[in-house]
Amino acid sequence: MAQLVLKDVGYVYALKEGAGLKAIRGLSFSVEKGENIALVGMNGSGKSTLAKLLNGLFVPSSGEVLVDGMSTADEKNTFEIRKRVGMVFQNPDNQTVATIIEDDIAFGPENLGLPGEEIAERVRSSLEAVGMSEFASRTASKLSGGQKQRVAIAGVLAMKPEVLILDEATSMLDPVGRREVLDVVGRLNKEGITVINITHNMEEAALAQRVLVLRKGKLVLDGSPKEVFASSVLGACGLTLPPVAQLANRLSERGFELGAILDENELVEGICRRLK
Ligand code: ADP
Ligand code: MG
Repeated sequence: MAQLVLKDVGYVYALKEGAGLKAIRGLSFSVEKGENIALVGMNGSGKSTLAKLLNGLFVPSSGEVLVDGMSTADEKNTFEIRKRVGMVFQNPDNQTVATIIEDDIAFGPENLGLPGEEIAERVRSSLEAVGMSEFASRTASKLSGGQKQRVAIAGVLAMKPEVLILDEATSMLDPVGRREVLDVVGRLNKEGITVINITHNMEEAALAQRVLVLRKGKLVLDGSPKEVFASSVLGACGLTLPPVAQLANRLSERGFELGAILDENELVEGICRRLK
């Protein structure tokens, strides 16, 4: 069975006086272990709601969400599901619970009641995985945005997750920070962690193996970046491919393959490298 399965999922936010807002409607898809997915859609299309449905923070109003076969609606699964599906959010400044970085990473494993040695080992290996080992005993407040997000990812890794969901986790970062985070996430994916990257940035979406497009709470496109970016439906979803990516795509169609291009600097670097 697939790692994540959604069966005709709906989610309604309860509003005042019995009214409800249908944020997710009739959503069905599944995700295999190790996939690298970008989830895109306009503001308000339901991306964050879907993320919360996937890690059991929200329970579907209708239909079913299964994580490794466990229904998120069954309370006895909640703890296990939260461990398996980790989330990193948008604001790098809202994601730490302790001042010192290693204490912050230890927070999750401590709550699991693990022995001290195991906690220390998880803190060490998680910081190493995001390239932040040398910062272990420093304070989080002095870090750059990209470093803060890498620490947030380390905090999730310390729980030994199967799935990593990034909810616009790079949107407040400068290009350098964005690259740092994407490189770390790409490496983790290669090591087997399933990645769902929620993003506004279509260049980032182009890095994924599979792109899901939400519109008004419904899944309207699901395919490879090439298929999705070529679809005429994309414009109707309020999404456009940035000129840099369009240019890189056109070049690759003509046999001038540059790989994934995130911004104009990478385009220039890629072209110069190829021409030399
Ligand atoms: P996205 O992350 O794609 O911007 P959201 O999942 O945050 O979209 O929101 C989907 C829809 O649900 C939007 O119409 C939004 O206004 C609404 N919504 C989100 N959170 C709440 C909430 N706590 N209460 C009521 N409506 C909400
Ligand atoms: Mg959102």
